[in-house]
Amino acid sequence: MTAATATLRALRNDSLAAFWMPFTDNRGFKAAPRMLAAAEGMHYTTPDGRQVLDGTAGLWCVNAGHGRRPIVEAIQAAAATLDFAPTFQLGHPSAFDFANQLTALLPPGLDHVFFANSGSEAVDTALKIALAYQKAIGQAGRTRLIGRERGYHGVGFGGVSVGGIVGNRRAFGPLLPGVDHIRHTHDPARAFTRGQPETGAELAEDLERLVSLHGADTIAALIVEPLAGSTGVLPPPKGYLERLRAICDRHGILLIFDEVITGFGRLGAATAAELFGVTPDLMTLAKGVTNGAAPMGVVAAHRHLYEGIVEAAPAGIELFHGYTYSGHPLAVAAGQATLGVYAEDGLFERAADLAPFFENTVHSLRGVPHVTDIRNLGLVAGVELESRPGAPGRRALEVFHTCFDEGLLIRVTGDIVALSPPLIVSPEQIEEMVSKLADVLRRTP
Ligand code: PLP
Repeated sequence: MTAATATLRALRNDSLAAFWMPFTDNRGFKAAPRMLAAAEGMHYTTPDGRQVLDGTAGLWCVNAGHGRRPIVEAIQAAAATLDFAPTFQLGHPSAFDFANQLTALLPPGLDHVFFANSGSEAVDTALKIALAYQKAIGQAGRTRLIGRERGYHGVGFGGVSVGGIVGNRRAFGPLLPGVDHIRHTHDPARAFTRGQPETGAELAEDLERLVSLHGADTIAALIVEPLAGSTGVLPPPKGYLERLRAICDRHGILLIFDEVITGFGRLGAATAAELFGVTPDLMTLAKGVTNGAAPMGVVAAHRHLYEGIVEAAPAGIELFHGYTYSGHPLAVAAGQATLGVYAEDGLFERAADLAPFFENTVHSLRGVPHVTDIRNLGLVAGVELESRPGAPGRRALEVFHTCFDEGLLIRVTGDIVALSPPLIVSPEQIEEMVSKLADVLRRTP
């Protein structure tokens, strides 16, 4: 490198200093930045014009692929017509229309939606609604929230408290009081299981353990991801969610499904609740709701919660909660156009149709160096790698970097690679992703 190039690079990297990047090794990134400049369909383009195949739908959100014209145009039109409208004691029609459109996609009973701006906000909103409901129905003693080990529910204090990832918790003090966790469902003895594991439904009984320990009358709600995404793609054992539902019903505990990843076709149905035939009391959604094109989070609430909190309250504000940008016109426009694209392209069905091919192709990685487990459901897969002794996560990070440099975007958490392509992915592109990943794994020490 010449002195001039080195100076230029130092200058450029200095200009990266101000942005404190989220969930990023800031020093590592700024020393060797990897940037994205544009996106279309299944590909990102880097500032130097390289194409990168998107194996992760951005961050599990761009389910319809990038740059979809109806979504772009809807956002443009909304920005030009009604840039902002408060939804506190006022409204704008498209927010109401969109709420109706969303509830039509959800399992019967989930008839009301509360708008937020991210998955994290949706989770904290759902937890607050659960507490408010218990209080409204005369169960004010039910203040305990239960999560699950290896759960990810975003980064609000509520979501981190019920989440089960040590790295996200340990720097932030005692978090919410009165929170406990049931066991996760992962069992390494079931490595290379295709789809839902046949065994493990009995792990749901761990909720009974917490009921015995704390008393059901102290527990407001249980929150789980139907399929844990961020901690490495852990499909639920067959019968497990059904059993959680039954235990919650037995004890008056509300069940919250965090469907921020599983919503909008990822598993080959509108929601995991629909796929598994288990209806929660509350559901959180985000990401795919706008195809990632505008920030939005959603809490869908069962009508008995809305009735319990809203219709039973004295006149006046019934729930002291909301965001300046709840139902933001641009996000609503993006969401409406996104639902249109999903329906027009039949993307949820497409994901279901492609799932067996995706499963077979991903499982062809068995036997490739470092691969210790492969899990999958719908159009999501987790490929677990053996960690380097004393350097957990290092190998997967190197794989991530090499894949990116060679034209494939994957996601890694710890030593687990996640693949969750846009639902428009072609069979050839699935093969391309998997063979590129295999090739990189073979060359990675
Ligand atoms: N819940 C789940 C299941 C998630 O996967 C995520 C993000 O990945 C969140 C909540 C948080 O969403 P956001 O990053 O939009 O706050």
